[in-house]
Amino acid sequence: TPPAYDDNNVFARILRGEIPCRRVYEDEFALAFHDINPQAPVHVLVIPKGRWVSLADFSAGASAREIAGFWRAVGHVARELGIEGPGYRMLSNVGANAGQEVPHFHVHLFGGRRLGRMLP
Ligand code: 5GP
Repeated sequence: TPPAYDDNNVFARILRGEIPCRRVYEDEFALAFHDINPQAPVHVLVIPKGRWVSLADFSAGASAREIAGFWRAVGHVARELGIEGPGYRMLSNVGANAGQEVPHFHVHLFGGRRLGRMLP
């Protein structure tokens, strides 16, 4: 059974405008904003607008249109931030083993410095 979505998670509240964020980009499918605790000179989160806990339920349940729109937005944001040329890292934590803190699917974009190897 897919995990239940918590409408009071912090990113749901950001989507509803109840909590402010430093917005980078928004369209029909996605919202991008700066991470509150940046781990690199550029650290931006991209989230889909739908009620998805992680890539697990997003990839299984979202429409092809939502999935395409979301990933197109991720690429667009990276380009717009100017991190595409020098290179960047994209990461998404899924579930407990990855230490996912916020139960709304999000992709981290890290850039602005050499990142070093980080596997895992
Ligand atoms: P996770 O471990 O779930 O992948 O990471 C959640 C991320 O969300 C963390 O990097 C954390 O700093 C960020 N975050 C948590 N609460 C807020 C918030 O209220 N605003 C913003 N902009 N970022 C947040």
